[in-house]
Amino acid sequence: MKWTNLLEPDLVIDGSILDLPLDNLLSNGLKGLVLDVDETVVPLKSDRVSPQMEAWINQFRQSFSIWLVSNNLSQRRIGRIAGILNLPFIASAGKPSRRKIRQAMEAMGLPPEQIGIVGDRLFTDVLAGNRLGLYTILVQPLSRFDDPPAQSYLQSFEIYVSQLLGASVFTSKHSVAKFRKSP
Ligand SMILES: [Mg+2]
Repeated sequence: MKWTNLLEPDLVIDGSILDLPLDNLLSNGLKGLVLDVDETVVPLKSDRVSPQMEAWINQFRQSFSIWLVSNNLSQRRIGRIAGILNLPFIASAGKPSRRKIRQAMEAMGLPPEQIGIVGDRLFTDVLAGNRLGLYTILVQPLSRFDDPPAQSYLQSFEIYVSQLLGASVFTSKHSVAKFRKSP
């Protein structure tokens, strides 16, 4: 495997985590989900969890073991969000480092191929997940429609750089794009 494949998600969603198709995850044999927090579950500039996100978590927790794993250094912010959603969490994870994600994997008691990681960043969430052999899912940042959409620029920049490096991240116009890794 080329090292640039480590930057290629297994699935790219042209939408937020709320657009993730449950049947796709189940048909891929997933039983656990590691969720990024900032811009994946809650916009970076907010600590309010939307009712839609609460409903999503409550639906998906019936099928998956879910952990929040964030690079945010604020134990307080991530702990508060985890408390609202009643989910276990790890802050200061240092993704793309694998160490803290491994803690969540061990707590889930699942093999890597049964765990998905969902995040808005290629160079942290996707890279960390691919290093661990997880099913990697890139979502659009929640504040993509903000003015200015700073997090979207960051994601676009990372996709641009990854393509310069030889990775091919394909973002479809459709709501869900299945991305196929090159052999
Ligand atoms: Mg994020």
